[in-house]
Amino acid sequence: MEIEIATIGGYEEVGRQMTAVRAGDDIVVFDMGLNLSKVLIHDNLQTEEMHSLDLIDMGAIPDDRVMSDLEGDVKAIVPTHGHLDHIGAISKLAHRYDAPIVAAPFTLDLVKEEIQDEGKFQVQNDLIEMDAGETISIGNRCELEFVNVTHSIINAINPVLHTPEGAIVYGLDKRIDHTPVIGDPIDMKRFREIGREGEGVLCYIEDCTNANKKGRTPSEAVARSQLRDVIQSLEDYDGGIVATTFSSHIARVTSLVEFAEEIGRQPVLLGRSMEKYSGTAERIGAASFPDDLGMYGHRKSVDRAFKRIMNEGKENYLPVVTGHQGEPRAMLTRMGRGETPYELDDGDKVIFSARVIPEPTNEGQRYQSEKLLGMQGARIYDDVHVSGHLSQEGHYAMLDALQPQHVIPSHQDMQGYSGYVDLAAKQGYKLGRDLHVTSNGNILQLV
Ligand SMILES: [Zn+2]
Repeated sequence: MEIEIATIGGYEEVGRQMTAVRAGDDIVVFDMGLNLSKVLIHDNLQTEEMHSLDLIDMGAIPDDRVMSDLEGDVKAIVPTHGHLDHIGAISKLAHRYDAPIVAAPFTLDLVKEEIQDEGKFQVQNDLIEMDAGETISIGNRCELEFVNVTHSIINAINPVLHTPEGAIVYGLDKRIDHTPVIGDPIDMKRFREIGREGEGVLCYIEDCTNANKKGRTPSEAVARSQLRDVIQSLEDYDGGIVATTFSSHIARVTSLVEFAEEIGRQPVLLGRSMEKYSGTAERIGAASFPDDLGMYGHRKSVDRAFKRIMNEGKENYLPVVTGHQGEPRAMLTRMGRGETPYELDDGDKVIFSARVIPEPTNEGQRYQSEKLLGMQGARIYDDVHVSGHLSQEGHYAMLDALQPQHVIPSHQDMQGYSGYVDLAAKQGYKLGRDLHVTSNGNILQLV
């Protein structure tokens, strides 16, 4: 059986992930993501109304025109998890393929919301929910399996396409976490089995976000304990405490809610995406929040909540808000500009339970946000966070578990791949032979 892999997006950048695997006549597409930084750099761009080709030209979504060079039918579109760099282009591209979207429950709900918000295209692909550990047939000879992994969002999976020539393991995005706070630990046992059963692993596509980082990415349990340490140290502070994190990081939001209550403050989630992700997680039963937890997304209800906090005393509350990257329109940035009813005083605390995504736009915006908050007197707790991506020891562990014949690094730019190329070479892989550093828009024939 011929096996080809099209590396469509996310092979020259972190963002707009998309990869297609052809096994005989059947094609499976993994991820259709958005490169948000290419959108945010323009002021007030409303992508909902934009055409795919314009977004492709901007470098915001994958250029899927290379798909016409693959001879076969797309049988499934498989987003691995709910981050926008993996699902954000589905509303712009999926309608071109007569194939269902197959995803884990939380991911699928977020995909539904993307499709509902879309203003230009009618996306009518079937939506199929599939849990980690489950398998479906792809054509007559292949099977698609979801293996549970751990990442900075719940319900992340790594899809595995079992072909007669061996398994193709799509490894985006994950870290190896045995104590993930919410959900099950990563299923390393299953990865080891896949590496040893049948024809073994023909190809492994790897998340190289942190491939230049030595050592091991700590567990979410470590971030949780750092966060508890910071918040408990503020127990006697009688002014304002505000926290921000990735809205989609449900485990982290849950920890923030819990620790706010531990120091006798009422947590409140504020901002459009805070309401969206936590509301979705609660609705599908993937997370449980206190019954009386306020979640407010719309501008008016957020302002009402801020007014209530100011009236009742901000020492009684811990607002968890959007804006960890200093996004200009997010809640924390607006607080810094004094545009909300919440007044920061000298010595008030702002906890960033996130790190700046190392990209000039983010770095600039975050710098500005911190300066604005500082001008109001706020004191910053930075980087109370652990990454959701494997570092080098995790990459070694995955190669050891899967023993793939071929490896394709992904989810980085050329500089970002260097650490991975070095470590894979130490494991006996050779660039150009079985270690394939590639770029967007290429097709690699493996069999
Ligand atoms: Zn991710």
